[in-house]
Amino acid sequence: MKDHLRHAKYVIDIGPLPSLPVADSDMRFPVGRIFCVGRNYAEHAREMGHDPDREPPFFFMKAPSSIVQNGSTLDYPVGTKDVHHEIEMVVAIGKGGKDIPAEKALDHVWGYGVGLDMTRRDIQGEAKKMGRPWEMGKSFDQSAPCSALRPVSEIGHPAKGAIRVKVNGEVKQHGDLSQQIWSVPEQIAYLSGLVTLQPGDLIFSGTPSGVGPVNKGDKLEGHVEGVGDLTITYAR
Ligand code: MN
Repeated sequence: MKDHLRHAKYVIDIGPLPSLPVADSDMRFPVGRIFCVGRNYAEHAREMGHDPDREPPFFFMKAPSSIVQNGSTLDYPVGTKDVHHEIEMVVAIGKGGKDIPAEKALDHVWGYGVGLDMTRRDIQGEAKKMGRPWEMGKSFDQSAPCSALRPVSEIGHPAKGAIRVKVNGEVKQHGDLSQQIWSVPEQIAYLSGLVTLQPGDLIFSGTPSGVGPVNKGDKLEGHVEGVGDLTITYAR
């Protein structure tokens, strides 16, 4: 932030910054931007009708205000009849930079969390068909539930391990972090060639196969081995 703006007075109050708790701490991580990687697990790319042969990674964004805290009860989103779950490992950027080489990329990571890239699949599908942007399918109220973050100093950099989500107790998506087409360092290298990464940015690092619909009353339990757990419920 520019120094002369640090104590600026604003004409309206938009409340505190979006943020996430840090596990086992009373500190919070401020959320800047949310980037999401598309089709980063081969089986998921195939289930969406694409050839996963390492086409370059591509990114879309969600508004920071779409963050939802672990344990929340959410309203079923408006404007859709087909909301899908996408369980993802979330990478929290602690140090910004541009044109970051993959070999140095992990130095920019502060920690990791468990996220859900909730998707209005019907709106996204229509956008794809019409050649329109994805935003209204991806970035909407409460579209980015995320667990507390765990720092690298505690858990290191998870590159393998189970990633899954259960809906009402039944496993719907399961995979392994090692199945990512583009690893976290590669994602950071690519993304930082397109935008200057800032401290506080999050990267949702893609979802394994098995995406599917959620309904009113559903309980979603996400897990990433070595990172944590995330539980949200949709109101009846
Ligand atoms: Mn996704």
